[in-house]
Amino acid sequence: MPYDDQNIFAKILRGEIPCNKVYEDDFALAFHDINPLAPCHVLVIPKGAYVSLDDFSDKATDAEIAGFIRAVGHVAREQGVHESGYRILANHGRDAHQEVPHLHIHIFGKRDMKGMLAKAPA
Ligand code: 5GP
Repeated sequence: MPYDDQNIFAKILRGEIPCNKVYEDDFALAFHDINPLAPCHVLVIPKGAYVSLDDFSDKATDAEIAGFIRAVGHVAREQGVHESGYRILANHGRDAHQEVPHLHIHIFGKRDMKGMLAKAPA
């Protein structure tokens, strides 16, 4: 899937749409999810134009990958969820119900996350 520069996170990166920012560096921007599913629900996105982890892992430079992953860990520590625990999640494509076609890692925390996936027939 080609990158759509009109997606909502591209607009947030360009400053065309506001976000509740928690962190920013050369590689990543992190902000609160607009519809939080946990007391801590932060999204971390790379600055580069990548549709999903599939695209990012294939095309991003080593520096972008390292910078992005370091930002995820940094944000989790800054949010204070590194000791109690947290879950990270990245949806890719149809089966995962990815809504926004710009790579984002969800950080969920500050509550018990229960099972890894909802129980459903395989
Ligand atoms: P996905 O299903 O693509 O992994 O998740 C997309 C996430 O983006 C959802 O959790 C949704 O609530 C969040 N989201 C969608 N639009 C906006 C927005 O304009 N601002 C923020 N902060 N989050 C958004």
